[in-house]
Amino acid sequence: MIRKVRPERPTPRARALGRWFDRAARPLPWRGPRPDPYRIWVAEVILQQTRVEQAVPSYRRFVRRFPTLRALARASRAEVLKAWQGMGYYARARRLHRAARHLVDARGGQWPRTAEDLERLPGVGPYIARAVAAQAFGEPVVALEANGLRVAARWTGERGRIDRPEVRTRLAATLAGEMIGQPPGRFAEAVMELGETVCTPRAPRCPACPVGRYCRLRTEGLDPGRIPARRPRSRRPTHRGSIVALIRQGRYLLQRRPMDGLLGGLWEFPGGHRKGRERPEATARRELREETGLLAGPLQHLGSIRHSYSHFSVELDLFRGPPKPLDVPTPPGRRW
Ligand code: SF4
Repeated sequence: MIRKVRPERPTPRARALGRWFDRAARPLPWRGPRPDPYRIWVAEVILQQTRVEQAVPSYRRFVRRFPTLRALARASRAEVLKAWQGMGYYARARRLHRAARHLVDARGGQWPRTAEDLERLPGVGPYIARAVAAQAFGEPVVALEANGLRVAARWTGERGRIDRPEVRTRLAATLAGEMIGQPPGRFAEAVMELGETVCTPRAPRCPACPVGRYCRLRTEGLDPGRIPARRPRSRRPTHRGSIVALIRQGRYLLQRRPMDGLLGGLWEFPGGHRKGRERPEATARRELREETGLLAGPLQHLGSIRHSYSHFSVELDLFRGPPKPLDVPTPPGRRW
């Protein structure tokens, strides 16, 4: 007996989501009829820490400067970091650049087409590898990001914390099941679009949701504030320190941070952490001496600045003044 093999059909939820996405998808610049792995990759890297509205102008600026993989690979690291200005998390730019060079130098610009092979590129993690494999090459793999986790948790009424591996595995399986019979890239984008525009973190617009009838949170009247469940936030520590804007003939002394590590390769004023009960000006003078070998003349306190990173905050006192003596030679690796 010959049995007909039926192509696997999308679930009703996935069909409803797909129809809605056809109507409602925003015309984002990295979307198009012919997916371009380079542009999808750049967009995904930018989107990792940035909301879509902020990512669009940054993405446009970056691909105008580096329109192709080869253009990015040919650029110097300084040029790439300059083009990344305003997007923060500069480690992402360094990783992007490293992978572009590897793709061009070692593979003649040929992209690997599976998540497994993409992940072997230097600087490409599992999320980016899966997102590019699904969207550019149609591999049926799930790239778990915040929108997908939230949407899948609400669809299934998941009560477990989404930082737990077993919960993430369950949610990934839900998304993989919904992807069946759909173009993987389009499905991934539809889930992301739903999470960005309808199933938002604090106030999901359930009455306007295209998949509300297939969602346990809606049908069972669950609390969107509790799903997805998260680990309670720990307090972000604050590091205090001082920085010195040393000025001579209208020019400030700058030094470059080491290439690896936070803000690697960027230029900064000398400065650093406060020790014990040290006064802010004493910190400024000590750090200047330790980092550059220079002494400062009278220093003026310009104010303090607070800045938050993902895991800590910094509070910096900023001082300005001339070097002592004025005609001191420029320390190696620094510029006025
Ligand atoms: S019904 Fe509400 S909670 Fe469920 S997917 Fe839609 S917006 Fe999200």
